[in-house]
Amino acid sequence: MPELPEMQALAERLDTALAGAVLTAVEPLGFTALKTVSPTPDELVGTALVGVGRRGKYLVLTFDGGRRILVHLSQAGRLDLEGPAKVTRPRGAVVRFRFADGAGVLVREHGTQRKAAWWVLDAGDEGPLSVLGPEPDDPAFAELLRTGDSTRRVHTVLRDQRTVAGLGRGYTDDVLHRAEISPFAPLRSLTPGQRDALVDAVDQVLDEALSEERGRTGGLSEPKLGLRFAVHNRVGQPCPRCAAPLLRVSYESHEIVYCAPCQTKGKVLADRRLSRLLR
Ligand SMILES: [Zn+2]
Repeated sequence: MPELPEMQALAERLDTALAGAVLTAVEPLGFTALKTVSPTPDELVGTALVGVGRRGKYLVLTFDGGRRILVHLSQAGRLDLEGPAKVTRPRGAVVRFRFADGAGVLVREHGTQRKAAWWVLDAGDEGPLSVLGPEPDDPAFAELLRTGDSTRRVHTVLRDQRTVAGLGRGYTDDVLHRAEISPFAPLRSLTPGQRDALVDAVDQVLDEALSEERGRTGGLSEPKLGLRFAVHNRVGQPCPRCAAPLLRVSYESHEIVYCAPCQTKGKVLADRRLSRLLR
C-alpha cells in the first residue's frame, strides 16, 4: 500500500492542483531518500511543472525541458498537499517541494520504516522506470496472463513489478479472490478459463478501486489506506462470497489472505511460519 489506484488518483489530483506552477524550492528533509546524484534537485528550481502522472507505483512529475522527479511511497509513505506550503518538519519527513503559487508537496513516512524514495532524472532517463513491466491497461499485460508459462506462483507474478506494474500485496489478494484462483497456483498451471477470469478480475478490481480513490481529496495523508479491500487484511472475517472464515499464509513482512472454499477447493495452504510456531 499504496498501489496503482491510490497513486493514479493522487497523480490526477496533483496534476489538477499544480500543473503549470513554477518550482521555487526543493527541501530534502531526509537525504538518504534521494536516489540520484545528478541532476541536483536545485537544477529544477525555476522551471514549470508540466504535469503529474504515474507509472507503476511511481508518481512522475514532469518539468519544462523534460526533466522529471519520481516519488515512490513504498509501504508507509504518505504525501501531503499543502496550501500554502508549511515550514514544519514533521517526523518521518522526506522532502518538501514548493511552488510559485504558494502550494507545497510534502513526502513523508507514516511508519517507522524508511523506504519512501525519490529520484531526479534528466530528460530521456528512465531511471527505475526502465525495468517495469507493462501496465494493467496495456494489452501486453493481458497477453502475459493469458499465455505466460512461468512456474512461479501467480501471487508472486502479479506482485513482481518487473513482470507487470502497479499491483501490490493488497490488490493481488483481492484479484485472486475475485478470480477464484489459489495464490499458490503456478501461472503455467492455469486453464484458459482461469486466465480469462484473472484478466477480468484485474480490470474490475482496479477499476472499482480507482473510482473510489477518485472520491478522495487533497494528498494521500491518511494513516490507514486500503480499508476497502475485500479480503486483504481481513483474515478471520467471513468471505464476502461464501462466508467461510478467510485464511492467511504469513511471511516475515506480510501475509497472503485467501478463502479456501473459493480459491483452493478447501485446501489449507502450508503456512511454514505458523507450523514453526506450533512445533
Ligand atoms: Zn469464499
